[in-house]
Amino acid sequence: MSYDDNNIFAKILRGEIPCNKIYEDDFVLSFYDVNPQKKVHVLIIPKGEYVDLDDFSSKASEKEISGLIKGISIVAKKIGVSNEVKGGGYRSLVNIGENGGQEVLHLHFHIFGGEKVGKMVE
Ligand code: AMP
Repeated sequence: MSYDDNNIFAKILRGEIPCNKIYEDDFVLSFYDVNPQKKVHVLIIPKGEYVDLDDFSSKASEKEISGLIKGISIVAKKIGVSNEVKGGGYRSLVNIGENGGQEVLHLHFHIFGGEKVGKMVE
């Protein structure tokens, strides 16, 4: 599937629509999910144009890949859900494609925490 730069996260990256920003560096942007599913629910996205994890894995540079993975831990620490914190711990997940339930076609990792996240899948 080719990347459509009209998706909502592309618009956030271009600054065309606002987000509640948590963290940004050369590789990633992280912001709060508008429709939180848990006490803490944030998203982290690569700055590059990748539809999903498979697209990212096959096309992204090593620096982009490590930047995104490291970014998840950086953001978890920033929002206080890191497992290094007492009472911390979180779940990070990525939905891929139709069966995965992906709605926005720009790769994003969810980070859920701030409470027991619960059953892994419904
Ligand atoms: P997914 O189903 O994995 O594609 O998740 C898309 C997520 O993006 C959902 O949790 C939405 O609530 C979230 N979302 C959609 N639009 C925005 C937005 N403008 N700002 C922040 N989060 C958004």
